[in-house]
Amino acid sequence: MLNIKNLHVKLEDEDKQILKGVDLTIPAGEVHAIMGPNGSGKSTLSYVLSGRDGYEVTDGDASLDEHDLLDMEPEERAAAGLFLAFQYPVEIPGVGNLTFLRTAVNAQRKARGEEELSSGEFLKIVREKAKALQIDSEMLKRPVNVGFSGGEKKRNEILQMAMLEPRMCILDETDSGLDVDAMRLVAEGVNALRSPERSFLVITHYQRLLDHIKPDVVHIMSNGRIIKTGGPELALEVEKNGYGDLLAEVG
Ligand code: ADP
Ligand code: MG
Ligand code: MG
Repeated sequence: MLNIKNLHVKLEDEDKQILKGVDLTIPAGEVHAIMGPNGSGKSTLSYVLSGRDGYEVTDGDASLDEHDLLDMEPEERAAAGLFLAFQYPVEIPGVGNLTFLRTAVNAQRKARGEEELSSGEFLKIVREKAKALQIDSEMLKRPVNVGFSGGEKKRNEILQMAMLEPRMCILDETDSGLDVDAMRLVAEGVNALRSPERSFLVITHYQRLLDHIKPDVVHIMSNGRIIKTGGPELALEVEKNGYGDLLAEVG
């Protein structure tokens, strides 16, 4: 499914190499976590996969199924089934949450050659999914993320994800700033979406999210590379000992 090979990325307008050869394969149905110290390039990896401006790929490849992601526009990547939930969800004043969701869902369906949902069908689905995330109808009517609390924004992103039914979901520090209850809701939302056809990349600083979203594989990233890969026990090791020992091992 997601296949990243020897990915090298630098800042576009500065001579600064950020990713220095990332290799990562996430098969269908698996949940992989990336942990690592601040500044190691975790967010850069998710930005580059989503096609954000400001970065230059100097070497390597990234593909999703048969699609060469690096050759595609951000909208094309989304249509191919890539979804990113960001550390800082954007606010969109003037656009109602429901309108935004419906436009996104129908654009996605169109790109996949499927028929648009009628407003009745759409409302039925969105209400059902919102309920599971404890998002009330008032929140659905407000402008996207405007005045939402941190927890509401994150739950709203999971709602977007649930509506778009992506193949590959990337969550970049979706847990940061969440209280325990909001984190559990987000984790349950993610778990409800787990399926043999869908994969997740969960970027997190903290092991506690991984108590709720059990990863199949954990990667440790440092200084633009994945320096260690293991099972869920690797996250526990980081929680207990910090990154110091792992970084020392690599030298
Ligand atoms: P992480 O998410 O692991 O904390 P980031 O990907 O945010 O790491 O950052 C990796 C490194 O690249 C950091 O040193 C950061 O300061 C730098 N960096 C990333 N994006 C930019 C940018 N747009 N301008 C300047 N430096 C950047
Ligand atoms: Mg950071
Ligand atoms: Mg980051």
